[in-house]
Amino acid sequence: MTGAGNGIGLSIAKAFLAHNARVVAVDLDADDLDRQFASEPDATTLVADVAADDAPARIINTAVEHFGGVDILVNNAGIVIAGPFETLTDDQFDTIMGVNVRALFRITREAVPHLKESAAPRVINLGSIMSDLAGPTLSIYGTSKHAVAGLTKGMAVDLGPHGITVNYLQPGSIVTKMSEPFMDDPEFKAYWEAKAPVGRLGQPEEVAAAALFLASEEARFVSGVGLNVDGGAIVQF
Ligand code: NAD
Repeated sequence: MTGAGNGIGLSIAKAFLAHNARVVAVDLDADDLDRQFASEPDATTLVADVAADDAPARIINTAVEHFGGVDILVNNAGIVIAGPFETLTDDQFDTIMGVNVRALFRITREAVPHLKESAAPRVINLGSIMSDLAGPTLSIYGTSKHAVAGLTKGMAVDLGPHGITVNYLQPGSIVTKMSEPFMDDPEFKAYWEAKAPVGRLGQPEEVAAAALFLASEEARFVSGVGLNVDGGAIVQF
C-alpha cells in the first residue's frame, strides 16, 4: 500500500486493516506513518520514495518478510504539479511520470511472482477522473493518469491468465492534502462541487470503500476497468 501516510492511501490502509488484512504502509513521511500505524498490530511501515531505484524490492521484500507474501497491491502514491502548459519543465514531467507511472509499473512487476502464489491476487491502481478528462494547468498530471489507465489495461491482459485482476480507481475531487491548495480557490471549489451531480466533494473513505470492493471476492470477475468514485462528475455535461 503506497502513499499510506495521508489522504486516500491512509483511508484505504485503515479500511483494509478493519477488514483483517495485514498491511505494509509505505510513505515518504516517517512521522505520518508513525502517527497513523504505530498502534496497529497488523501493519508494518516502510519509509520509501516509490520512485527510488530500490523501492520495488524494498516494498515487496518487506511484505514477504513480515507477512509471507502479497495478495493485494495498492499503487496509490501520487503527486500533482500544475501550471500552464508552456511553463511546465522537463524535470516536472519526469518527476510526475516517475512517481505516478514508472514506480507503479516497477512495483507491480516486482510483486508479480508473489501475486501468482496468492489465492485471490489483486492489483488496485489510483487513476483519476483525469484518466479520461483533461483540465486547465494539469496536462502532465492528466497524462500520467491516462497512462495509469493504459498500464492497468495492459497488465490486466498479461496477468489475467495467472488469476491476477488489475483495476484502477477514478476519484473525482476528494478532500485531501493534494486537493487542498486547489480548493483554497472558492471558484475552483464551487466548480467541482457543482460538477458532481451529488453536489459536493468526496471523502477519502468513499474511495476506500471502492478499493475494498475491488479487493473483495465479489470482484473476482472484474478486471481492466476504471471505477469512478466522483459523485457522477464525469457523466455530467
Ligand atoms: P495526498 O497528497 O493527500 O497523499 C499522498 C500520500 O502519498 C502522502 O502521504 C505522500 O507523502 C505520499 N507520497 C507522495 N509521493 C510519494 C513517493 N514518491 N513515495 C512514497 N510516498 C509518496 O494525496 P491523495 O489526494 O490522497 O492522492 C492519493 C492518490 O489518489 C494519488 O495517486 C492521486 O493522484 C489520486 N487522486 C487524488 C484525487 C484527489 O482529489 N485528492 C483525485 C483523483 C486521484
